[in-house]
Amino acid sequence: MQMLPPFYQSGNCVSPILLPLVPLHVFFALQPLIIIILTMHSLLLILLATLSLAQSSTNITLPPFVPVPPKQPTNTSLPYGSVLNHCYIPGTVALTFDDGPYIYTSRVLDVLAHHGARATFFINGRNRGHIDQFPELVKRAHEEGHQLGSHTWAHPSLPNLSKSQIRRQMTALESAFLRILGFYPTYMRAPFLAHSDDVLDVMDELGYHVIGASVDTKDYVFDDPDTNWRSFERFIDGLDAGGTVVLAHDSHRNTVEILVEDMLEEIESRGLSGKYLLIVRVDYADACMQLSRLVSVLVTTGGTGLSRPARELLGFLDVLF
Ligand SMILES: [Zn+2]
Repeated sequence: MQMLPPFYQSGNCVSPILLPLVPLHVFFALQPLIIIILTMHSLLLILLATLSLAQSSTNITLPPFVPVPPKQPTNTSLPYGSVLNHCYIPGTVALTFDDGPYIYTSRVLDVLAHHGARATFFINGRNRGHIDQFPELVKRAHEEGHQLGSHTWAHPSLPNLSKSQIRRQMTALESAFLRILGFYPTYMRAPFLAHSDDVLDVMDELGYHVIGASVDTKDYVFDDPDTNWRSFERFIDGLDAGGTVVLAHDSHRNTVEILVEDMLEEIESRGLSGKYLLIVRVDYADACMQLSRLVSVLVTTGGTGLSRPARELLGFLDVLF
């Protein structure tokens, strides 16, 4: 029986097709180089596959491009293109809800209305739901005085995208806003709170205030009746640590069925103790971040539904302005 060459005997699996082409000693001398080339080739294939996957996940979900008119300049002291994590008005707390509209959003609106509270909804075009499935909910949120902001069209991690892809994520949602509400927002929250210099550059260019969070309930993790208390605990700890911009999600059942009510009761009780105020916001950051707008909101509402310290603040501001 003919002996196999040492290459086969050792079980080495580098392509035997090379064997008839080169002398064995040359082949073994070149073996490390061949392994490196094959490894780099595999890595290149993986990279190309990943890139094409990212490309398809950001492009396929986008609706056709519809040009939107440029934003009108607004009279604001808030910066564009930098992350804002706190209310600037002492004693205010802002509730914000991401990832809607979805089947649970109407329940959040009911609870907020019951408490006479306003909140901010950072909405998507396509996430767990699709904005065109819920145009009436979007209109209702706006008509009931809540602020609507952008959370991008399809909720990608923006730092993974090119600047033009980031722009498309924003303008695609602007088109939907125009179609449903007749305007588009100047506030946004980046999905996963993921920012990069490119992301902030584009937001500055498009005229967006970028809202972060200083109280993260992580309600998407504790979306269960048995664990939801941990989100509430994070909310309490966040407030105690001085947090003022609260992040939750109206796309999660236990947030709308348990957490929102608990959070509002807690804010109200702290408001009554004089530590926090429940501020009614037409435009969330304009209310909790800009004093002049806060005054107009309070005066417009006449303080209806506000906690006692909020009414006292209203009186104080009346004297001040
Ligand atoms: Zn989100």
